[in-house]
Amino acid sequence: MVQCRNCRSAGLSPLYDFGELPLGGYLLPTAALARQAPRFVNALAICGACGLVQQASDSAREALVEFVYSNYQPTYSMSAAVRAYQESLLDAAVKLSGVQTGDAVIEIGSNDGYVLGLLKQRSLAPVGFDPSIDPALARSGVRTFREYFGAASARRFAGTHGTVKLVISRHTLEHAFEPVDFVEGIAAVLAPDGVAVLEVPYLQLQMMNNQFQSMSVQHVCFFTLSALSNMFGRVGLRVRDAWFCQMDGGSVVVCADQRRPAGAEGERAAQIESVEQLLRLHDAAGFGQFFADVARQRAQIRALMTEYARMGRRIVAYGAGGKGQALLNLLGLDTHLIPYVIDDTPGYMGKYVPGVGTEVVARDDPRAGDASMVLITAPTHIREIVQRDRETRGKDRLYVATAPRFHIVET
Ligand SMILES: [Zn+2]
Repeated sequence: MVQCRNCRSAGLSPLYDFGELPLGGYLLPTAALARQAPRFVNALAICGACGLVQQASDSAREALVEFVYSNYQPTYSMSAAVRAYQESLLDAAVKLSGVQTGDAVIEIGSNDGYVLGLLKQRSLAPVGFDPSIDPALARSGVRTFREYFGAASARRFAGTHGTVKLVISRHTLEHAFEPVDFVEGIAAVLAPDGVAVLEVPYLQLQMMNNQFQSMSVQHVCFFTLSALSNMFGRVGLRVRDAWFCQMDGGSVVVCADQRRPAGAEGERAAQIESVEQLLRLHDAAGFGQFFADVARQRAQIRALMTEYARMGRRIVAYGAGGKGQALLNLLGLDTHLIPYVIDDTPGYMGKYVPGVGTEVVARDDPRAGDASMVLITAPTHIREIVQRDRETRGKDRLYVATAPRFHIVET
């Protein structure tokens, strides 16, 4: 087992072992290659000293860089609701930081540059850090760094361009194998009166919403606010405020600044941390029931699908993104049980999911047409998917999903 990625303690206690699973977030050109995709230990542990829940092993680290993070792939088509949410989060961040026209704003984990574009529209000077950033962004005049963000890259930036009043990052810190280096970078690049606004999945909401498919090796750390505060405190940052949102199955937005001499945590952050204490999210006792339930669901859902297939009924999945891939593998739903997974993302069709080897087909592909049951594997877009599928297929299908419980989707 690794040392704690936050406090370097050797005292990690195992929470749950998902088994050896392939990476998600990339697809392969043939079923044979997909089934032979390398597998990695996917086991979670908690640090007895600082309470950070994390992957117990680093074995997937190099493979993630090679297969997933080094290539630019536009990963999702964003819904109108997500776009509206991004705007409202930017409103809050701009207000908190007091940035003015022309000020530089760093976004860590910029992907397709959508947020950088929004910053530009607000007459700010966006700066993007992302090893898989869209190369076209640099040509459009946005300052981009095609690299991992950390203390070294942040100091280089600050040495040349100075510090900034606002750093934004959505759903990136949880992927970092060196999370303290990441937040140290934020501390290095943030002006004395600057603010960092970070959004990450929030462990307690993730558990409440049954988001176990998000606990694949792509996610290295799983945050409570207490663990985040501990990590920020290590590099001289303080959690000034925090609030929750429904993004990605339940997330927390943390607002951090440079710790002033007597700076304590904000009132709301302190309250959240006291609730986490009560729920025992700082030790293994807070997680036993959740993971026992995960184990039971994995067995039951697979048994149900096996029975269904035995009766000759056709089941397809809907959603071949990283989380959908993880769910198929976690539940062991190979192509005997689920022969096809529907996904309309351009470039996905005709490719295969690592591990289970399921072929991705378009929504109107006739091979997926005779399915009488659809397992929705994109857990955060259930309603949109059912609506879209019913427009194409009529009303004779049964839809099931795993979040927030395994259930039949009301149509
Ligand atoms: Zn620790």
